[in-house]
Amino acid sequence: MTIDAADLKRMFDTIAVAIEADKDRLCQLDGVIGDADHGIAMALGFNAVRDALGSLDLAATEPTALLNTAAKSFLNAVGASSGPLYATAFMRGGAAVKGKATLADADFTALFQAMAQGIKDRGKAEPGEKTMVDAWQPAAEAVAAATVAGKTLAQCLEAALAAAERGAEATKDMIAAKGRSSRLGERSLGHIDPGAASAVTVIGAMRKGLASDL
Ligand code: ADP
Ligand code: MG
Repeated sequence: MTIDAADLKRMFDTIAVAIEADKDRLCQLDGVIGDADHGIAMALGFNAVRDALGSLDLAATEPTALLNTAAKSFLNAVGASSGPLYATAFMRGGAAVKGKATLADADFTALFQAMAQGIKDRGKAEPGEKTMVDAWQPAAEAVAAATVAGKTLAQCLEAALAAAERGAEATKDMIAAKGRSSRLGERSLGHIDPGAASAVTVIGAMRKGLASDL
């Protein structure tokens, strides 16, 4: 099966619904080690993406253009640090599939890995610094390993979700070294990073949103 602009739009719609449902929990997590706005920021961002994609002519839109629209609308809607991080993810994802009208499994796994790399590059965070990178990087590594092992895209995304869940859970034992929560130092120990938690929600919704095609 291939993925086209309409499939990507459905994926983003699924993310928006999942994040909206998770908004309060994400704000609560951010309230413990940050400023309690992470759920609001992510919901604003993905609702803006849904609105922007809703006005595209999908039959005439390539995946790269759709992802660039997603990036722009997310960035404009979100003032928090997650804004430029996800905007960069979508732009890099779009660049990874430039010129393609539809995406094969391998194109989507490349897109996924480019998103994770974009977040890492934009935030300059390394694994272990208690950020969303601690979910996105293991997820991307799981996708790479599953691709090499000849797994289907559905299996790749299942592996990504499981790795992201483990990564997010592991942020409990990390001391924040990047972003707002780094001001807490050791007091950030024992708490899940909100950005890693929302990454699990995003990746789970990506898998669910694409599932009917996989
Ligand atoms: P803000 O901290 O500006 O209020 P949000 O609450 O939306 O922004 O997002 C906080 C999340 O952003 C953190 O939990 C962390 O996962 C992520 N984050 C912050 N700084 C970085 C960074 N430099 N690299 C990667 N992720 C980061
Ligand atoms: Mg915050």
